[in-house]
Amino acid sequence: MNLVLFGPPGAGKGTQSAFLIERKGFSHISTGDLLRGAIKAQSELGLKAKKIMDQGQLVPDDVVIGLVEEKLKADPNGSFIFDGFPRTHAQAEALDALLEGMQSPVKAALFLEVAQEDLLKRLTGRRVCQNCGATYHVALKPPAKEGVCDVCGGPVIQRPDDKEEVIAKRLEAYERSTAPLKAYYQGQGKFVSVDGEGPVEEVYRRLERQIDSAS
Ligand code: ADP
Ligand code: AMP
Repeated sequence: MNLVLFGPPGAGKGTQSAFLIERKGFSHISTGDLLRGAIKAQSELGLKAKKIMDQGQLVPDDVVIGLVEEKLKADPNGSFIFDGFPRTHAQAEALDALLEGMQSPVKAALFLEVAQEDLLKRLTGRRVCQNCGATYHVALKPPAKEGVCDVCGGPVIQRPDDKEEVIAKRLEAYERSTAPLKAYYQGQGKFVSVDGEGPVEEVYRRLERQIDSAS
């Protein structure tokens, strides 16, 4: 079963994906993670993407669609959670076309609903492990030892695009290009709104209920 997990930056997509991978055995495709991987590897694609990401803009459709296609081909029988993809109408159509070819369409598009003021608190306080990508929050979920990842001992840092001036740009890009996908999935009868406020375990239980009833 393939699921799109979408919502604004900071809604908790990465956090909830980690639970879904561990507890429900989903495979994960996060285009943000794939792009950060390309940056770390200092590939040509990564160097180009970094400039765009550091400005809070969206990376071109053909680049992210190519990354997703590669991952899908590597695991043609997987059950995927798409996290941070699709972000534009063209990406949503490309995903439908790719999955149609694999006879495993998107089952549901789960939208995490979070108030704007909470998004800002979550994004400005987010910290991530530079090594394994584990996610923390300065106030809500700090690592046991400041600056050190609980999972792998790697350095815990602030993402360059989580600086306040870049966050504003990312939220604008979301409103302009990604929020309209609600209507896209509503039109397909696949849109499911999930309350993303409250403790992470509560949000997870709400998601799980929807996933169990979709399967
Ligand atoms: P996204 O992947 O949607 O951008 P993340 O999962 O990285 O969002 O979450 C953004 C920040 O908010 C992280 O610092 C995370 O620890 C925190 N967070 C996630 N879910 C919740 C929640 N339900 N309540 C409070 N903070 C949360
Ligand atoms: P994320 O990790 O999902 O918050 O994404 C971080 C950044 O990567 C975004 O602000 C974009 O610059 C870029 N990015 C990630 N996914 C996509 C996508 N599907 N389309 C375009 N740009 C993306």
